[in-house]
Amino acid sequence: MSRRPIVVGNWKMNKLPSEAAAYIKEVGPMLVQYEGVDTVLAGQDVLLDAMVYAARNTPICIGAENVYWEDRGAYTGETSPAALADLGIKMVIIGHSERRNYFRETDEMVNLKTLAVLRNGLMPIVAIDEAVQLESSNDHAHWIVNQVVESLKGVTEADMANVMLAYEPTAAIGSGQAMSPEIAQKSLWIIRQTVADMFNQAVADNLRILYGGSVKPTNVYDILSQPDIDGVLVGDAALDASTFIELVSLAE
Ligand code: PEP
Repeated sequence: MSRRPIVVGNWKMNKLPSEAAAYIKEVGPMLVQYEGVDTVLAGQDVLLDAMVYAARNTPICIGAENVYWEDRGAYTGETSPAALADLGIKMVIIGHSERRNYFRETDEMVNLKTLAVLRNGLMPIVAIDEAVQLESSNDHAHWIVNQVVESLKGVTEADMANVMLAYEPTAAIGSGQAMSPEIAQKSLWIIRQTVADMFNQAVADNLRILYGGSVKPTNVYDILSQPDIDGVLVGDAALDASTFIELVSLAE
């Protein structure tokens, strides 16, 4: 079993359309040499058109940071998964801890979004967080298992080929202090075992699981050396084009 490494940059709400295009024009040609790594850049909706255009003929896949669960209708201000697919978007981050904490996204909403994204032929990157102080390792495992089970309700075994999960401990996000790779590995192992229990071992073995939380060039190699960590979801360090290239080079 070999899972291709993947580096996902999550720009959050930090770039203007003109900056997005300039970044991709700089990074795109440089990434051609790292054939062994998948690269994704996710931006806020208003950037996506410019990002898709700039990323033509580059290995960069463009992702969205959020989506609604209906394809069409009277949902002013929401983004349709069908519209994202039509625009050429390939992946969508769902349930990021900032969505869960600031915008009250529940596991049920994450599940609806995951199903909607799959229905439209897009790949969900479902974020699993740790937003609460957990008293014991049992609570910790239960918290993770519950999110995985609730997020993936109704997802079929065939769909799982298009799903990725991202473990993002909230305390590590934007703090500059990544979780120790060995401790993160334990949570990713729990996530993979949960998927094996829900589906089967082959689905779990093929699933790519990412770690997110203060990933930088100085720690990405150690993080990706863990057996269950297949990729990284990167916020701050992905804002700078040359740092993003460095991360991809270290991931190969
Ligand atoms: C994130 O927002 O998904 C993230 C991991 O951010 P950072 O790398 O800045 O911690």
